[in-house]
Amino acid sequence: MASSLRQILPRRSILAAPSARAWTSQRCAFAQRRSYAIAAPDAADPKLQAIDLSKLQVQKTTTPKEVMSNNDLVFGRYFTDHMLSLEWTAAEGWMDPRITPYQNLSLDPATCVFHYAFEAFEGMKAYKDKQGNVRLFRPDMNMKRLNRSVARIALPTFDGEKVIELIKKFCQMEERFIPSERGYSLYIRPNMIGTQRTLGVGPPGSALLYVIASPVGPYYPTGFKAISLEATKYAVRAWPGGVGNSKLGANYAPCIVPQMQAASRGFQQNLWLFEDVDPTTGKVEDFVTEVGTMNLFAAIINKDGQKELMTAPLDGTILEGVTRNSVLQLAQERLVPEGWKISERRFHMRELAEAAKEGRMLEVFGSGTAAVVSPVRSIQYNDELVSCGLTADIEAGPITKRFKDWIEGIQYGEEEHPWR
Ligand SMILES: *Cc1c(COP(=O)(O)O)cnc(C)c1O
Repeated sequence: MASSLRQILPRRSILAAPSARAWTSQRCAFAQRRSYAIAAPDAADPKLQAIDLSKLQVQKTTTPKEVMSNNDLVFGRYFTDHMLSLEWTAAEGWMDPRITPYQNLSLDPATCVFHYAFEAFEGMKAYKDKQGNVRLFRPDMNMKRLNRSVARIALPTFDGEKVIELIKKFCQMEERFIPSERGYSLYIRPNMIGTQRTLGVGPPGSALLYVIASPVGPYYPTGFKAISLEATKYAVRAWPGGVGNSKLGANYAPCIVPQMQAASRGFQQNLWLFEDVDPTTGKVEDFVTEVGTMNLFAAIINKDGQKELMTAPLDGTILEGVTRNSVLQLAQERLVPEGWKISERRFHMRELAEAAKEGRMLEVFGSGTAAVVSPVRSIQYNDELVSCGLTADIEAGPITKRFKDWIEGIQYGEEEHPWR
């Protein structure tokens, strides 16, 4: 196992290694996918060119864009002056990295990405601290995840450490687009596509890894706004043995209709369930998986009277969020000493509904790079509206608020932490 991990992942991370706990869960999830990872083109194949940082070509724009004022920022609408691109071919490996003006791609209509969805992406952010330094938050986690995603769809893996170096150079070039105010950041979107021109279904013989960036404002410009969810019964996002744990574009388009339907009934997001037999009772239950494009956490007082923060386990149907991992690690460090139990375990809607009915529901929140944490007011489940512990006058509970403060404090460099 260790050797196959090494083939895919950089040999040494420039940032702090995830805790032993995180590694265990990553290894388990990775082991399930091991066979795919080995089948994919290998970043460490000595016959192929590896990414060479010294060959970086930089072409600066001659028409710099105006920086948007903070108030006008809309998520993902405005992009910076440049883009980072790396082309790969099966015959040669990785070509010289390039930073060029932001521009259209020119692709043949038969290019495989348009037909068979050879595409995987990442979402990460660069933050500017009070001293004006640009900071990335745990980018090693994003590079590992992108390597796992692309390996699953026969796209080439790469040395994540080198791409982090390139992303740092790129962010430095785009520094003037990163607002320095707390809550603002530069959203970074690495994306890999298969570029081979063919309608034949097979592993792409060429690929493009590119990175674009968009300045973004706070998800909640006027403070937290709790969302209401509709639990989706008629569609599933992911299933055992599927690809729900990979950040593939193909996972997202099918999620929009259930989201639109939830929205038409007044819910901001839908909640993804997975119907399965509960082995402890033998009953069929609706297990809670994720919310929209966020991981989900529930804080309850459990039947033993202990405060418990729980989230679904990495069983292959859950996207392994960097924020999820960060919440879990901070919870271990900071909530366990306060008597909390922290669980990565399966839980179902009936358990949440019971906790709500019995006054044991504390808080529910989503976690993801865009919002950090997103408080949940209620979940519509069948004919029942499950209340998630917020009184009408508040938009977020204390645990949700603490995680936002803790994580943002680290992201903006206000707290010294190994993740910076
Ligand atoms: C990206 C994503 C998340 C959150 O991941 P982060 O790394 O925390 O941003 C959660 N669920 C899904 C389905 C996602 O695509």
